[in-house]
Amino acid sequence: MIIGSGFSGAVLAHQLATKSDCTIDIWDERDHIGGNCHTERDPQTGIMVHQYGPHIFNTDKKEIWDFVNSLVEFRPYVHRVKAMSNGKVYSLPVNLHTINQLFQRSFTPDEAKAFLETLGDQSIDDPKNFEEQALRFIGKELYYAFFYGYTKKQWGCEPTELPASILKRIPVRFNYDDNYHNNIFTGIPVEGYTALIQKLIDHPCIRVSLNKKFDPAMDISGYDHVFYTGPIDAWFNFKYGRLGYRTVTFEKCYADGDFQGTAQMNYCDVETPFTRITEHKHFTNWEKHDTTIYFKEFSKESEPTDIPYYPKRLEHDKGLLLQYRAAAASLQKITFIGRLATYRYMDMHHVIGEALNYATVFLTALASQQKPPVFPNTEN
Ligand code: UDP
Repeated sequence: MIIGSGFSGAVLAHQLATKSDCTIDIWDERDHIGGNCHTERDPQTGIMVHQYGPHIFNTDKKEIWDFVNSLVEFRPYVHRVKAMSNGKVYSLPVNLHTINQLFQRSFTPDEAKAFLETLGDQSIDDPKNFEEQALRFIGKELYYAFFYGYTKKQWGCEPTELPASILKRIPVRFNYDDNYHNNIFTGIPVEGYTALIQKLIDHPCIRVSLNKKFDPAMDISGYDHVFYTGPIDAWFNFKYGRLGYRTVTFEKCYADGDFQGTAQMNYCDVETPFTRITEHKHFTNWEKHDTTIYFKEFSKESEPTDIPYYPKRLEHDKGLLLQYRAAAASLQKITFIGRLATYRYMDMHHVIGEALNYATVFLTALASQQKPPVFPNTEN
């Protein structure tokens, strides 16, 4: 039994169905497969929409890239994000163009590097949070222009409360490379992510039930093993308290032609209520559309009835997570896997890589009659 049909559940199902003789039931509480990666063509414009916000496939691992490309066709796509700050448009991630734009200079790479060193706060030896990481490496001008306001809106707290690792997701470059990601392989599936998930679970031994909400109180004794990809605190009926998540809401808009000329424009000030605008036809520039659809994206604290998106992982949350993990460790015939069940900020390629790896670990444990690990990861 697999609970959830996002990438974790679908990759596991694919691996177990093709590499063992089991039969698999997948349950998903929503009316579609794919979890938050779900894509669907907008009926009005025909544009492929990432229903739960933009998803760009990136990886450095050739085996993961080959794996997804063996299932569906991908086309090249480089994510180029722009940032609106104080009414002006800048290049992101911070690169030589951004530095020259913000400081109205024409630095060479070496000059920009030396300049940024003078801006960075050298007294911070070991940055302990998001803000310290930013002040140490890019200085307060760049930090307040691009990161402080956006981060406050995105996470609903002061950046001093957030881990430095969130900022480390975004590169800083001393050349004009404005690719938002650092990975070797990058692209977008031609027919969207749901087609890819569908391909993964398209097997006579896999049965999918939609609109089927799982409750841990249910009798699951008929199953040899349960793979759970929902929130870990929900499995335990929140007995230690709720883990913190941010959720996202969207305001959908239509226009003729091209609204903003790029897939993603970030609004970095605190005053603009949304974090970014994504215009989805720019993800598939091989398609032609005369009209356009775009989404203003708002971030807020996830309430019990909301869809959880970003795990906050504040100190309090990490304490709760330890308690839930300890409670899960003694369970039999169950695996907690994926973003929600392990409570981590994961990209698609992390999720796929971990599910592929875990399927091998699981099948090996089964063959030697060992208990498979309850989690694919050790606590971090
Ligand atoms: N961030 C920011 N300004 C930006 C873009 C990102 O301050 O213009 C910060 C923000 O805290 C965000 C984090 O960097 O949560 C990671 O950004 P990324 O673009 O990777 O977020 P995602 O696309 O996963 O929402």
